Amino acid sequence: MSDPEVYEVYAIHYCTRGNRPKSETFLSPVLSADVHEVAQDITYYVWLITNENRTILVDTGFDRDELERRKALMGGGWQPDYRRSPAEGVAMLGFDPKRIEDVIVTHLHYDHAGTTHDFPEATFHLQELEMSYATGPHMCHGQLRFPYTVDFVVDMVRHLSRGRVRFVSGDAEFAPGISLHLVSGHTMGMQSVRVLTERGWIVLASDASHFYDNIEAMAPFPIVFNVGDMLDSFQKLRRLADSPEHIIPGHDPLVLARYPAPSAALDGAVVRLDVAPTA
Ligand SMILES: [Zn+2]
Repeated sequence: MSDPEVYEVYAIHYCTRGNRPKSETFLSPVLSADVHEVAQDITYYVWLITNENRTILVDTGFDRDELERRKALMGGGWQPDYRRSPAEGVAMLGFDPKRIEDVIVTHLHYDHAGTTHDFPEATFHLQELEMSYATGPHMCHGQLRFPYTVDFVVDMVRHLSRGRVRFVSGDAEFAPGISLHLVSGHTMGMQSVRVLTERGWIVLASDASHFYDNIEAMAPFPIVFNVGDMLDSFQKLRRLADSPEHIIPGHDPLVLARYPAPSAALDGAVVRLDVAPTA
């Protein structure tokens, strides 16, 4: 292992879906019984890790075409508020999407692995298990298939054929101060990203924990490949992060509320995760 470097880390908010009952957060009907009348928005992010030596994007979100396709698929009640493409968010932070060289893909679901064409110079880093899962026999089940968008999976296969994919198997150092960790459960090949910052080691959980509520209550999210693995992965996230406050869930609007915007102009669009939460 090389000497770790320290990074700035940003969450870029690109979409929010309101009018969503909090009961959709929990697999267990026992846990969701008390929250049927409570609303909980779901927020969609990509993340940017940067220091003087490298800039890495984590996930590529989805685009406006996919928004329309999913709306048609999900019916009238599914009306997300799409704010900006992930590439537009990256540009708002002052980085050129066309010059991003490394993208860590936490998993291949539609809301994490679309828009790869907006990053034409990037190499994509994903778990070997995720590619085999997304293209293998489990995809015969509609329940496991529906969060994947076939065009995005095929795009990744095309990137692979052009030498633009690097596979990770399990846990591995990615760069000094950044490591990747297999956290199966939500999907078979889900990975989270551990990053050293001025406040210590933080973990970008992505969908290993959608909301703070999931990991705090050890309560799985309903879109799940393996419940036991998801529970084990909650514990792994806790071991990897310096404290529960150092774990960043994948879809929680509270992330926007708890962390400061890097500037007034970016209020509501970007928050900084390498500094202590303010709320
Ligand atoms: Zn997601």
